This record gives sequence, C-alpha cells and structure tokens, in this order.
Amino acid sequence: MKIGFVGLGNMGAPMAKNLVAAGHAVTGFDTAGVTVEGVTPAAAMEDAVSGQEVIVTMLPNGAIVRTVHEAIVAAADPETLIIDCSTIDVESARAVHALAGEKGLMSLDAPVSGGTGGAAAGTLTFMVGGSEAAFAKGRPLFELMGAKAVHCGEAGAGQAAKICNNMILGISMIGVCEAFHLADKLGLDRQAMFDVASTSSGSCWSLNTYCPAPGVGPESPADRDYKPGFAAELMLKDLDLSQTAAEKNGAATELGRHARDVYKAFVEGGGKGRDFSAILEKLSAG
Ligand code: NAD
Repeated sequence: MKIGFVGLGNMGAPMAKNLVAAGHAVTGFDTAGVTVEGVTPAAAMEDAVSGQEVIVTMLPNGAIVRTVHEAIVAAADPETLIIDCSTIDVESARAVHALAGEKGLMSLDAPVSGGTGGAAAGTLTFMVGGSEAAFAKGRPLFELMGAKAVHCGEAGAGQAAKICNNMILGISMIGVCEAFHLADKLGLDRQAMFDVASTSSGSCWSLNTYCPAPGVGPESPADRDYKPGFAAELMLKDLDLSQTAAEKNGAATELGRHARDVYKAFVEGGGKGRDFSAILEKLSAG
C-alpha cells in the first residue's frame, strides 16, 4: 500500500518502521524534520498525504490533530482512508471524522496502548472508532503495527475506550502505591504484600505486571529508577481527557478526578519525566 505518515515522534517513528518492514511504501512528514530509516521524507505535509491509499497520524493533541486533518482532507485523494492514532479528546476525534465525511473520505480514530516498547515490537493494542468498512480497510495495518485491534463502535468510540481504560490505570496505580506505602508503615514486607495481593482480590495489572515497588514482582520501570515506561505527564494528559469528557457528559468520576489531581501535583512537583509508578517513591519520601 501507499501510506502517508504524519508525526514521526517516539510512537510514530517505530510504527512507520513496522509498515516499511512489511513492504509498504511509506512517505513521512514531521514538523521537527525527523527522518526514519526506510520512510521517504516529504518536504511538506501535502507531499506526504496526496496520492496515498492510507494516511496515518500520530500527533500530540486534539488541537494539532484538527489543524493537520484539515490540511489532509484538502490534499487527500477521494479513496483515501485516514487513521488517527493519537490520544485526543472525543470531541476533536468526532470533529475530524465529520471533516473527512464531508469530503466522502473514510476515517478511523485508533488510539493505542502498549507504549514505545509496543510500538517498536509491533504489539500495540488499537482501540478503533468508525464504520465497519473503514475498520475492514485499516485492519491489515493494525495487524502489522499491533497485536490486537478492537472495533469499539462509531466515530470517537476508540478515544472513549482509551480514556476509560487509562482512568482505571491511573486510579489502580495510585491504589497499589498506597497499599505498598501502608504496608511499609505497618512493617509488612513488600514481597509478602505482593505475594498475597497479586494472587488475591487486590490483583490488577498495576500490581501484577507493572509493580511499582523495586525488586518486587516482574521487572518494571521501578527496577530502572522509574525511567519511563509510561511517563507521569502522559498519564496526566489522559486523566485530564477523562475528566473533561466526564464534565461534558455528566459522568460522576470522583476517583478519576482525584487521580488527575494526584498526578497533576506529582508532575508539577518534579515528577515530569518519571514513570507514572513513581507515585510510590513520592509517598515513601513523605
Ligand atoms: P512525540 O511528541 O514523541 O511525537 C509527536 C510528533 O508529532 C513529534 O515528532 C512532533 O514534531 C510531531 N508534530 C507536532 N505537530 C506536528 C504537525 N503539525 N505536523 C507534523 N508533525 C507534527 O509524542 P509520542 O510519544 O509519539 O505520542 C504521540 C501520541 O501517542 C500522543 O497523542 C500520545 O498521547 C499517544 N501515546 C503515547 C504513548 C507513549 O508511551 N509515548 C503511548 C500511547 C499513546
């Protein structure tokens, strides 16, 4: 396939690389002038998006996605499928679907989970919103860049799934960190806490797979001095998205709001660039 790729950052670059490795002809554009081995660099975005069968975007936020997609829709061929893999607000996702629809283009919102490691290994999970026909066309590419693609529903459903999932993750990570902190105060060995909770009703991904206590459980960012992994400021971004959506749609998400406030204080208090599991370190420091 002829594929245009806009946004070759920490996630976009390895995703584009996997498309090239599978034999696709990928033309890329990034305002930072990033080049990726095997990806044909375009001098201007229009050059990356015209004449393509599929265009993938992987960008920082909803405002940028809206601007970039306006330019894409203006330059893209009529049969093109546009896939936005960025994590953005549901409203912006729906707006760019509408923009594509006005010109008769197919579009998908397809945010990912799995981080930079998953992007490099081609094991991302895609959460996808859009029509059945668009999903069927995009699926072969999701299979190359990821291990799983779930069609969640119509326009914006992928972003909705992503922010709900990450709200669970933020809340559960804080819960696990607080449990280790309380265990410390009670003189309970961290390994014993892990052995019990990870096989009991306290078990969850934040504990079992991504344990925030160094030296306990499977290897995780805690064992690498909390080098991300998943940076705290990215967790804050996703929790902010969940709270904006909750406020706009009248959903009661008390703990989600509280988790957002915890991560905001953490990031502003020096946690930027640390893994999101370093909440435990902060609690231990008092
Ligand atoms: P990044 O900042 O490394 O990459 C974004 C890229 O977009 C940059 O290279 C930037 O130069 C480029 N860009 C910005 N404006 C542009 C424009 N107008 N035209 C073309 N290029 C432009 O960010 P990232 O970590 O790759 O994340 C990308 C998206 O993926 C975000 O929405 C993020 O929330 C989401 N995400 C990230 C992770 C992660 O672990 N990094 C995990 C899941 C989802």
